[in-house]
Amino acid sequence: MPSVQTMLSRKSSITNAFVNSIIPVIPPSQEEVLAALRILGIDPEDLRCAYCGDRASEWDHLRPLVVNRRPTGFISEIANLVPSCGKCNQSKGNQNWRAWMLGKAYLSPATRGVADLAQRVQRLEEYEKRQEVLPIDFEAIVGPEAWARYWEDCESVVTALRQSQELANKLKAEILAAARGRPTPGPGGTPA
Ligand SMILES: [Zn+2]
Repeated sequence: MPSVQTMLSRKSSITNAFVNSIIPVIPPSQEEVLAALRILGIDPEDLRCAYCGDRASEWDHLRPLVVNRRPTGFISEIANLVPSCGKCNQSKGNQNWRAWMLGKAYLSPATRGVADLAQRVQRLEEYEKRQEVLPIDFEAIVGPEAWARYWEDCESVVTALRQSQELANKLKAEILAAARGRPTPGPGGTPA
């Protein structure tokens, strides 16, 4: 049987949408991208993962944007982005990059036996130092009222969803009972 998608299984994606919707993106210029790659020792013509050296397929946020379903204050900007392969991006999630690289998480650079691990850590430390960014205090910028209101909105959406799910369960039970009570077709397709 196909699995049933309930409204509540979307709860964390709703919270994530609320979080991600307020995190700004500052698109980098070509020069900024090249300068970043220079610090990391990565050839722009052969984009490699800063963590493990495999071919890069995406850019990863060095410092996580979201932890415990709340913004960390770091945003999407070149100083917080490094080329990454899919494996590393997935494995790292929202962990601290250094602890993750050297730690035992599934598919972490350390567990995959990346040869020049120490040098990669050093380059990333240099990257952090050269393009230091401090987390932004979102709440201080928008003010405590708007901040509180926003998370209350998030709660209301989740609560509304939970109530709708309860009603949906009740309606579905009624529909199922009716479905089970249907007359079964007899031979020739007429009700028995
Ligand atoms: Zn990688």
